[in-house]
Amino acid sequence: RFGDTAAQREVRANDRQYVFHSWSAQDAIDPLPIAKGEGVRFWDYDGNEFLDFSSQLVNLSLGHQHPGMVRAIQDQAGRLATIQPAVANDVRSELAKRIVDVSFDGARSVFFTNGGADANEYAIRMARHHTGRNKVLARYRSYHGSTATAITLTGEPRRWANGTLDVGVVHFMGPYLYRSAFYAETPEQETERALAHLEQTIQLEGANTIAAIILETVTGTNGVLVPPPGYLPGVRALCDKYGIVMICDEVMVGFGRIGEWFAYQAFDVKPDLVTFAKGVNSGYVPLGGVVVSDAIHQTFATTPFPGGLTYSGHPLACASGVATFDIYKDEGILERVRDLGERVVAPRLAELAAKHPSVGEVRGAGMIWSLDLVRDRATREPLVPYNAAGEAAAPMAAVVAACKDAGLWPFAHFNRLQLAPPLIISEEDLERGLAIIDAALDVADSYYAG
Ligand code: PLP
Repeated sequence: RFGDTAAQREVRANDRQYVFHSWSAQDAIDPLPIAKGEGVRFWDYDGNEFLDFSSQLVNLSLGHQHPGMVRAIQDQAGRLATIQPAVANDVRSELAKRIVDVSFDGARSVFFTNGGADANEYAIRMARHHTGRNKVLARYRSYHGSTATAITLTGEPRRWANGTLDVGVVHFMGPYLYRSAFYAETPEQETERALAHLEQTIQLEGANTIAAIILETVTGTNGVLVPPPGYLPGVRALCDKYGIVMICDEVMVGFGRIGEWFAYQAFDVKPDLVTFAKGVNSGYVPLGGVVVSDAIHQTFATTPFPGGLTYSGHPLACASGVATFDIYKDEGILERVRDLGERVVAPRLAELAAKHPSVGEVRGAGMIWSLDLVRDRATREPLVPYNAAGEAAAPMAAVVAACKDAGLWPFAHFNRLQLAPPLIISEEDLERGLAIIDAALDVADSYYAG
């Protein structure tokens, strides 16, 4: 279906010859050449169309070529395309102000980075200087980026081959009731036992050695794990008790993915540092950052912060960040994400779970959802083993192929089919994509053994 035409061939040839790709054995991949995008769709050079249920890498919240975003970047390019970080600049300050204005009570400033990994690097560095401690607790089933500390924080196989690049990192288990590490049967038990486990980890590691606890507010790629009631406030309480900095990684779920500016706002918790990227400007120009509490800001009031980036607060990136705030307001993005999530996605996915035995559990909120696919509902054996590759991963590959053949670009990870469409998606396109997923789940069902 994705043809070997002259147009595709030329782009492919230069790619294969000259581009070194992420996370891949270079000879084992054949990246699909993509020619253009518009809204929630993109096309290859032969005109094959894909409905994007993955928002690229869960960054394209406002869809491709949003006129307000393109205009903001063009205007800024015509005015001042770049400027170094040590000077003050109108769009940089404006974006920082708007981010602080929608942040937690006590948020003071923003340090801008180029993306999510470096946002986490800098958040950890701030926490270490602030506390004078070195260890950082991070969760299993997490992704925090691919630079040295960020990949070490990551609690899944992308870390393994990289070894331990930051010896201060210690991992712990978070709540995941469907596959509970705590023998819990209710969300309340899961919360209580996950918190007891975390406190024990803190005690065994030595509370006075721990600078920070970092967690994805809602775990993204590793399963769309929505924290059970009380968990995040419980983490906050432990941080307060032991003088530990609480860092929420909102790179994937910040900026409206679950219908709040920041996901922690849905869970009654106030972090000390918040990292963001992706949705801040839908990835139109690389941008990330750290929202800094007043207390941590004050640590660096008279002592210099030892860190920086040439492109910190890049004007093109910041201009598209400011435009993001305007567009979210004009188009009521947060409200529509909550509405479509509750009114359309949740009930439709519940129907799919009732219809398809291979759907073990549906989880999510707003515009990020996960279908935990299983071979057997009773045992909850995943449709493919954890970190499966090759033949072992074939059932998931077949589900993904069924989506792509029907014109849907899905977001899949291990045994899970995840949904993260652009936040501007119409109800009609949402229904269309869900219908394709419905059909693709027939393929998952064909492997069901329960
Ligand atoms: N943190 C989370 C939760 C992410 O999902 C990602 C990327 O997917 C990152 C950090 C890393 O962001 P980046 O790829 O911009 O470095």
